[in-house]
Amino acid sequence: ILVVINIKSLFQNDHIAQSNHTSEDKEDNKIKIGFSLGTLKEERWLKDRDILMAKVRELGAEILVQNANNNDNDQIKQVKYLLEQNIDVLIIVPNDLIKASYAVELAKRKGVKVISYDRLVLNSDIDMYISFDNIKVGKLMAQYVLNKAPKGNYVIVNGPESDNNTNMIKEGYDEILRPKIQQGDIKIICEERAPNWMKEYAFKVVDKLLQKGKKIDAIIAGNDGLADGIIEALSEHRLAGKIPVVGQDADLAACQRVVEGTQLMTVYKPIEKLAHATAKVAISLARGESIDIEKTIYNGKYHIPYYVINPIAVDKYNIDDTVIKDGFHMKDDVYRNLP
Ligand code: BGC
Repeated sequence: ILVVINIKSLFQNDHIAQSNHTSEDKEDNKIKIGFSLGTLKEERWLKDRDILMAKVRELGAEILVQNANNNDNDQIKQVKYLLEQNIDVLIIVPNDLIKASYAVELAKRKGVKVISYDRLVLNSDIDMYISFDNIKVGKLMAQYVLNKAPKGNYVIVNGPESDNNTNMIKEGYDEILRPKIQQGDIKIICEERAPNWMKEYAFKVVDKLLQKGKKIDAIIAGNDGLADGIIEALSEHRLAGKIPVVGQDADLAACQRVVEGTQLMTVYKPIEKLAHATAKVAISLARGESIDIEKTIYNGKYHIPYYVINPIAVDKYNIDDTVIKDGFHMKDDVYRNLP
């Protein structure tokens, strides 16, 4: 019998997690969660890992973590390993939006529930998608640069097509920029995808355009790592701080650039909310409870329950009241480079 629980009740009683797994080879009754990360390269993933691990343990369950280092085959191997350890639930950040569906299939064959974490796995029977509103991330990026540069030449360096978030971000910025393009106010002179979110790639894109003498009025970077490469290129051409650049993640270095004035805005995604919600949902799924979430997202095959968290645009005016107030970064660290 499935017990339907309301998502709000997940946050009311943090009781100790007991597995409904009946397998003989489990040493005790503890729920076991497997967390498969596509990468740990960006600063945020370390927070995701640490906060999720701490929350799962606080709730009385066990957690095993694997990092595929941007390698699709390694991610499959690591998921196989996690399944051999008899996990009750798999939480996966896919490195590749489609290839990871095989990992999901392996889990489902064993009756293991799957949560797609931050990034959506396409065409697969996942039980839940928990992420930020990635379309809004793209909208916020576009709105910020448009306010600063309502006319002119735009450059966009997005993340790779293998990450569904980049498609959602694009949907968001396209929606905001489209009318301005149609009116002839702005022109996208370059839109590129950086493989594996490589900042060196973003550096080269902008450096080349500037070497060719192109006039750039605004730049949208898919994340703060790419913004880092872009601002480095601008700085080599003595243009840092003169052209608005936006990114996402509220990386410490990006927050420092925001207060220094070389990056206009970073979209802050409170990782604690994502990791805490996921830990609780994972444990409920392990207990066989089904979770009552109205919103869904279509992943090419199924309508997946979608637990959405709101992202927040952070500039130098609200950084104290957001990133710093939440303890995401320490004030001293953010303002460290200022006189
Ligand atoms: C995440 C970003 C992250 C990027 C690179 C995206 O899927 O949403 O927060 O910077 O991956 O890891």
